[in-house]
Amino acid sequence: MYNTHSEGNKIRKVYLYFKSSLTCTEHPGERSAITNEIFFRLLGIAADRRVTEPDIILSANDIDRLTKALERLNQYEPVQYITGITEFDGLPIHVRPGVLIPRQETEELVQWVSGHLKDQVNERIRHGTILDVGTGSGCIAIALASKFRGNRIKACDISEVSLEVAKHNALLNKVDINFFVCDLMEDNASELLPSSLGCIVSNPPYVTESDKSEMARNVLDYEPGGALFVPENDPLIFYRQIAKKAFDWLLPGGFVFLEINEKLSGETMGLFKSHGFTDIACRRDINNKDRFIRARKPEK
Ligand code: GLN
Repeated sequence: MYNTHSEGNKIRKVYLYFKSSLTCTEHPGERSAITNEIFFRLLGIAADRRVTEPDIILSANDIDRLTKALERLNQYEPVQYITGITEFDGLPIHVRPGVLIPRQETEELVQWVSGHLKDQVNERIRHGTILDVGTGSGCIAIALASKFRGNRIKACDISEVSLEVAKHNALLNKVDINFFVCDLMEDNASELLPSSLGCIVSNPPYVTESDKSEMARNVLDYEPGGALFVPENDPLIFYRQIAKKAFDWLLPGGFVFLEINEKLSGETMGLFKSHGFTDIACRRDINNKDRFIRARKPEK
């Protein structure tokens, strides 16, 4: 990038150079968004200030950081791993390689859960403990904890790296969450007592091998496969475990809310039905895809 004349290091020029050098995306809007995010997160200069003060001179150190970021972006690394931070439901969430980057659809899951819980007439469920299974960065648990300060919130994950990041994110957002390691596939050993939860929420892995062809390089090459992929011949592997365990852990009348593979909504709903759940409903995401289901453990 620029490094000799301070004239060349004026933010306006560096910004335009950075944006036009981004080869990881074809979309001009996305190029602007990524460049704005990098300038804001790495240099602390938001778009409005960049526009009103185009003559700010960037230091050699700033240029060096931008150059390294540009190289990583052009290798298709997600911008969130470069800045180390993203936003979920309006909250700051730190991420790093090994931890799934929160998705916008998942905010819709949180909204469904929170709307449903607020309207819940059953007090034990409304004020009951909420569990987020496979919490990753902690985004679902943290968003719910910030909306339901009276409820106990628990969250588990198989990945210690994720739990470390999730704990840090809970502190960052000043919410109290009880985190624990949990391998969903293990049948014994549980931290949870039967009939102890009002609500279980989860966004487990659900992407099949055949879905991979539709996925972008930044996801495939950089995000944790363990949080995304399931075997082609058993795509509901995690849902089956959740259905089994949820039925045991939930209070009578308690709920499960899940993000799902849009091609498997019928099968996923059928699975929960076969495990004894009732009131099973599916909801579409902003892209009009079957993306979430809800199921209830019967009262009796
Ligand atoms: N929706 C995510 C993606 O397409 C997948 C999330 C998941 O597997 N739970 O990258």
